[in-house]
Amino acid sequence: MTPSCLIADYDVTGLSAFHTEAKVDYFYEIQDLSDVRALHEIYEFSIHKHLPIILIGRGTNFLFAFKRFHGILIKMNLRGYNMNGDILTVSAGELVSLVSQKVYTEHNNPRLMSWVWLPGTWGGAIAGNAGCFGLETKDFLIDVEVYDMVKWVHETLTAAQCAFIYRGSKLKAQAQRIILSARFDLSRIGENTYNSMSLPEFMSIRREKQPTGYTCGSFFKNPPGESAGRLIDAAGLKGTRMGWVKISEQHANFFINDEKGGYDDILALRDLARKCVREKFGIELEEEVRIIQAK
Ligand SMILES: Cc1cc2nc3c(=O)[nH]c(=O)nc-3n(C[C@H](O)[C@H](O)[C@H](O)COP(=O)(O)OP(=O)(O)OC[C@H]3O[C@@H](n4cnc5c(N)ncnc54)[C@H](O)[C@@H]3O)c2cc1C
Repeated sequence: MTPSCLIADYDVTGLSAFHTEAKVDYFYEIQDLSDVRALHEIYEFSIHKHLPIILIGRGTNFLFAFKRFHGILIKMNLRGYNMNGDILTVSAGELVSLVSQKVYTEHNNPRLMSWVWLPGTWGGAIAGNAGCFGLETKDFLIDVEVYDMVKWVHETLTAAQCAFIYRGSKLKAQAQRIILSARFDLSRIGENTYNSMSLPEFMSIRREKQPTGYTCGSFFKNPPGESAGRLIDAAGLKGTRMGWVKISEQHANFFINDEKGGYDDILALRDLARKCVREKFGIELEEEVRIIQAK
């Protein structure tokens, strides 16, 4: 029987930062710790019905490359944070930018300044080892609390057990272990150019460097010792458009959806960027954005 907590035939268009039109067969949102209890039943249902599960935070690193996904989408929306000295404890669905700003304005601690405008949740930032302006999750994470849907247990993983790599960890692109909360030690963040700036100064730098709109940020990972944006720019693709989607003139690794674009426009632009960079530089670009295709 379908678990009663699942919402059927759910529109998820607004749940990915690209805003491509999409629906899923089933949807579930974790808003409270008690909602975690239903996960085992959902998992068993997914096995019984052969339905894949996608786990999502704010969807700022996801492209839904489907009109309908025959599976279950679980959204992590546990909110809240706590500061005790230099130790920051966050719930996985809380927003990185909001907490980073409050750490500065309410706790008088500038260490997270470089993350003030980093979109998405703490769960997403941990899974993807997010980073900007020289600071990555792995640099100051102490441990994470996860719920294992298969084994039906809560576990604590140290930062080393998360096996962080550039824009990834063993918790990315899997749905067995859901990050519920995490602890960070802000004293591990060294002095840098950004944490000596005022908030308005930092915001104006970030605004200058990054385009806004329906985008998932950097589409491709930076190849070793290179910048994907520089390569795409040098291949002459800034401003190139496929349907309603274009490569930003401001930052060539950002694809911007002008509201009406479909996933096929985004994939066409991805293929073009890859082809041009491969032909000009012999470098194969690898996606940073997680692309979910319908089976
Ligand atoms: C304008 C813009 C600028 C950006 N700039 C940067 C930048 O400077 N640096 C950078 O690193 N990224 C950047 N990004 C990408 C994005 O902000 C990060 O990848 C972010 O950490 C994703 O968080 P999210 O909550 O949206 O995760 P989602 O996109 O929802 O998910 C990303 C991955 O994390 C997994 N995940 C999410 N929550 C959990 C959880 N609770 N438990 C287990 N797995 C989970 C998902 O399954 C998925 O594999 C940018 C994006 C945008 C739109």
